[in-house]
Amino acid sequence: MGSLTCDWCEERFEPFLDDALSAGERARLLGHVDDCDACRGLLEELRVVDALLLEPRTIELPENFTFATMADVHAMPLPCARRAPIAALLAAYIAGAWSLVGAAFLIIPQHMTAFVQHTLAVTSTVLAALGGIGHVFAHLGDRGDMSSWTTVAGGVILADALVVVAVVAALRFVRPRIVERLRW
Ligand SMILES: [Zn+2]
Repeated sequence: MGSLTCDWCEERFEPFLDDALSAGERARLLGHVDDCDACRGLLEELRVVDALLLEPRTIELPENFTFATMADVHAMPLPCARRAPIAALLAAYIAGAWSLVGAAFLIIPQHMTAFVQHTLAVTSTVLAALGGIGHVFAHLGDRGDMSSWTTVAGGVILADALVVVAVVAALRFVRPRIVERLRW
């Protein structure tokens, strides 16, 4: 049989992993690997690499894999998963916006009177123009008081309100099925 060298084994690692060695060569190679840490380590590395490369090809899917997967997908409560985030975002926005407004009233009430007037003026403009964030800010710019944070805040809140309206409208008209579940 003769002594096996590491070179002799390394040449046969690939055929060994491909199960292409004769029974005799396979036995001799395994005998060497048992005693040789270097070859055992190398063979393990090759085995891992081969497993990574070959697994996608050799893995056997169950007969009904596609059907079962699609059934799982259909069983998922997708609309419900979307409902909570949207509702939570709207609630958080509204709560945050009105908290800001309430705090502003407490801190600088004299400015909030102007804020309300600005808001009403902007609202009428928006309604006249049938919405559009650009109109809000164009209007604010024309008034020449963009430095007034109350006006900016009013515009931001109105713009966001328009976004909310747009989202609601989209849900109502583009996604009627989801609206059914949302029960606005
Ligand atoms: Zn060796």
